[in-house]
Formats: sequence, structure tokens, C-alpha cells
Amino acid sequence: MKILLLGKNGQVGWELQRSLAPLGEILALDSKSQDYCGDLSDLQGLVATVQRFAPDVIVNAAAYTSVDKAETEPQLARRINAEATAVLAQEAQRLSALLVHYSTDYVFAGDGEAPWQETDPVAPLNTYGASKLEGEQAVQASGCLHLIFRTSWVYAERGNNFVKTMLRLAKERESLNVIDDQFGAPTGAELLADVTAHAIRAVRQQSALGGLYHLAAAGETTWFLYARFVLEQAEAAGISLKVASAALRAVATEAYPTPARRPSNSRLNTQKLQKAFALHLPDWQTGVARMLMETLEKSV
Ligand code: NDP
Repeated sequence: MKILLLGKNGQVGWELQRSLAPLGEILALDSKSQDYCGDLSDLQGLVATVQRFAPDVIVNAAAYTSVDKAETEPQLARRINAEATAVLAQEAQRLSALLVHYSTDYVFAGDGEAPWQETDPVAPLNTYGASKLEGEQAVQASGCLHLIFRTSWVYAERGNNFVKTMLRLAKERESLNVIDDQFGAPTGAELLADVTAHAIRAVRQQSALGGLYHLAAAGETTWFLYARFVLEQAEAAGISLKVASAALRAVATEAYPTPARRPSNSRLNTQKLQKAFALHLPDWQTGVARMLMETLEKSV
């Protein structure tokens, strides 16, 4: 199996390099790759890459992910998240290749408390969400065999993430306020990459499994409870913090105005995916605790 992986150095892309390795020959690219174009803003270059490599599977982990910046760069966000995705879908269709693509709970308005299902109406609140929705729709309209995974609150050991930021701030600051009225499930890039590899194998054997799926860790939390969990784990591991877990303060979203509006309900119902692929999604705490141990071990 020949696999083209785009966005190889992002949180998910990095983990995909590992999880896809046993499946076949991988061409992994980022925006600066030389031999093949991996820049999603270069649509002609992308077409040339797909046609020259002729993959059986295209996995698109590249995206414009700067949610606030997208409000002032809507054209670039749209080019990468929607137009480039449409090009990949057209080329996948032409080659009869499988396209794997990632999307977000930000396609929803984020009201209510029920976990969103794949069939629920979409209504993005911000430019990033609208550009990701347009990308999804382009994949579906192309007619190519596809897997679209909508996920939420992605973290990874590599690079910066919420966990590392909370640990740093709790060591530096006298007090710490964290938003407590947005609900979701922190989802590890490792989990996304592992489920992707399973799903690719399944869809290659049974194309009827292709489609749109919600993929997130089980359970739910808020940013505040997530931060408290992180600090509690750090305390249990003997890390000294200026702000104790019990001293964290919960605040409302209004306390932190941002250029892009965020949904308050980012819960995703993952029943469809678990049933279709006979998979079990672990609680969000399992992956966060594991990542935290790795982070703390490195910082000692
Ligand atoms: P990252 O921001 O970690 O990675 C995105 C990657 O895309 C980066 O490696 C970036 O490279 C690359 N990229 C940006 N612009 C271009 C370009 N023009 N050409 C090629 N590559 C480019 O994102 P994640 O791994 O977290 O996200 C993976 C997927 O999951 C995305 O589709 C995202 O929308 C979705 N998602 C993410 C969530 C999150 O919380 N992070 C939540 C929900 C969905 P560089 O850094 O060099 O620009």
C-alpha cells in the first residue's frame, strides 16, 4: 500500500508517521518538502505530487489551525482547509484512492449539552470552523472513498500544548484562572493516529465503512477541570507548584475575549465510529495522564 501523508510534523501528523508505518510505503511531507510539494497553499503543486506518487491512500493531517488568526486571514485559512482539501479529494477520486481527512467539532454552533452526532445540523461560529466545514463538504461532494474524522481538543507530547502551558504557569504565577464553561474531551494525537490506522485497514477491506465519523476520547471535562487534573497529577508526582491544584480559579469564557468565538459544547458522540470499527475509545484521563508522565520525566 502506498500512503501519502501531508502535514507530517503537526501533532497528528507526527503520530501518523508512527502508526501508519506498518501499513506500507509512506511518503511523508510538510510545507517545506523539496522533492515533492507538500504545501497545501500550492494547489498545482499538490496535484503534481498526488499524480506523481499515485498513492492508494492520502492522509491529510495538514491544516490551518490558528483559530484566532483565521479571523484576519480568512483567505489563507480557506485555501488550506477547503480548497486544498477539495483538490486532494478530486485527485483521490481520479485515482480511486482513499482520502483520510480530519475535521473539528467547531463545525457546530456549540449550544446545548448533548454530544453532537454526525447527522446534527452544522453552524460554525468562526472562520476556522467555516473553512473546515467547507473542506468536509468538498470531500463528500467529490465522490471519493473517504474517512473524515471530526475531533476535539487535540494534544500531543511533542510541541506546545495546554498541559505544558498549565504546568509552566502553575510554576511561575501566583494565581491561575481557567475557563470552566466550555465542555469537551481532550483527545491525544496518539489515539487519533492509532484509530486512523485501524480504520484505513478496515475501509480498504470494506469500502462501505467509508464516511464521516466523530472521534474523541471518552468522557467530558472543562478546561478548568482539565487543568486541575493536570496539576493534581503533577503534585502526586512530587512537582512543586506555586499555584496548587486546589487554588485554581474557574472563570467564564467572557473573562477571556478572543477574536474567534468558541463553542461551549464541544462534546462529540462517538457511537457510530465505535460500532462501525469495533473499537473502544478510552477515557480522556488515560491519555492525558500518560502524556503527563512523559512530560514530567523529561522535565526532571
Ligand atoms: P497542528 O497545528 O499541530 O498541525 C497542522 C500541520 O499543518 C502543521 O504541521 C503545519 O505545519 C501544517 N500546515 C499548515 N499550513 C500548511 C501548508 N500550507 N502546507 C502544508 N502544511 C501546512 O494540528 P493538529 O495536528 O492538532 O491537527 C490535525 C487535524 O485535526 C487538523 O485537520 C485540525 O483541523 C484538526 N483538529 C485539531 C484540533 C486541535 O485541537 N488541534 C481540534 C479539532 C480538529 P507548520 O507548522 O509548518 O505550518
